[in-house]
Amino acid sequence: MNYSLYFHIPFCKKRCPYCDFNTNTGKESLIPEYIDGLIEEFRIVSKHISKSSIHSIYFGGGTPSLVPVSEFERLLKAIEKQSLIQEKCEISLEANPESVNLSYLRDLHALGFNRISFGAQSTNATDLARLGRTHTVEETLSAVEFARRAGFTNINLDLINNLPWQDLESWKASLGRAVALAPEHLSVYSLIIEQGTPFYEWHQRGLIAPQDEDLGADMFEFTMDYLEQAGYEHYEISNWAKKDPNKPYRCVHNLQYWMSQPYFGLGAGAHGFVDGSRTENVGPIDSYLQLITGVCKYYGNFPFTPVAVNVHKVDRMTRMKDFMWLALRLVKDGVSLSRFEKEFGLSALQVFQEPIDALVHLELLEWHGGKEINLKLTRRGVMVANQVFMRFI
Ligand code: SF4
Repeated sequence: MNYSLYFHIPFCKKRCPYCDFNTNTGKESLIPEYIDGLIEEFRIVSKHISKSSIHSIYFGGGTPSLVPVSEFERLLKAIEKQSLIQEKCEISLEANPESVNLSYLRDLHALGFNRISFGAQSTNATDLARLGRTHTVEETLSAVEFARRAGFTNINLDLINNLPWQDLESWKASLGRAVALAPEHLSVYSLIIEQGTPFYEWHQRGLIAPQDEDLGADMFEFTMDYLEQAGYEHYEISNWAKKDPNKPYRCVHNLQYWMSQPYFGLGAGAHGFVDGSRTENVGPIDSYLQLITGVCKYYGNFPFTPVAVNVHKVDRMTRMKDFMWLALRLVKDGVSLSRFEKEFGLSALQVFQEPIDALVHLELLEWHGGKEINLKLTRRGVMVANQVFMRFI
């Protein structure tokens, strides 16, 4: 069994007005103490991880690139000490373009980081300003160049589209400039205006135009066609990997989620899926630090830890449903019937006959493969994927 580790780094220089992630500004002085907490949490959970079984480690945020290399070094050494990491482990860092320079990236690469994901969001200066981002387009270009010079051969760019002020031409140009940087991977998300954010309030007050669903669909269709022609494989609804017969660029870590495989979520507010249970850690940093460094040793059996506030066993039916809709996100591969049967001892057709038949009839799902039969979204299905998933939830 391969495991993945997710470390949440809840620090940012400034909160972007559309963001509802668990992050904090002005608390960077707590970073060393927070890393101590992550090391302690890892020490607790590591007893339940077998040797050489970790094949991906992901630092997400927040802005993980605010953490000094010396702090990552302490944490990675603590992990390596236990001989749990596989030799070819994918180690990814999310980074904001303005927060890195050449020497920082060189040091990270020397430490063993082999994948970097830049929160570029757009290559249009007006978009960045309206999104309240603290970086410029030029800083994204420099960050990618520094990463190349530092030795990174696996770079992702995160982009957001369907911005309320954005038209199709503007998105085409933004995507084109991103592709010109030749990243190995691209993640493209449609903006979601989340409740509780300044964007939501501005939207309610009519200061931000409503998003146009049809335009969003046009952008998505354009993205699929354009990236296909540019040599990228559309392997997950929002993710594209460069096609390369010699090296796979699909994100190992995120595949773990989509393939319903186990991952440990460490840090404030992190979520995990271990031993058939979903786990959630306490969100505020101060509470996390108090609990992880506290004296309480009675927190229940694993996967409970001192910082877990919610641990629940996922019942078999829910696991089957999750398996279906998560695997359907993998637009190239879809649901493997044999993997489903191996996992649950039942045929997916037996359990989900009615929705599968209905969705195949509507040409939203299709069968493919010869020896290995898979069920996947059709192109029409990809366009209305959330409605398809609802039939399995
Ligand atoms: S940098 Fe990322 S995590 Fe931080 S506030 Fe902006 S969107 Fe949120």
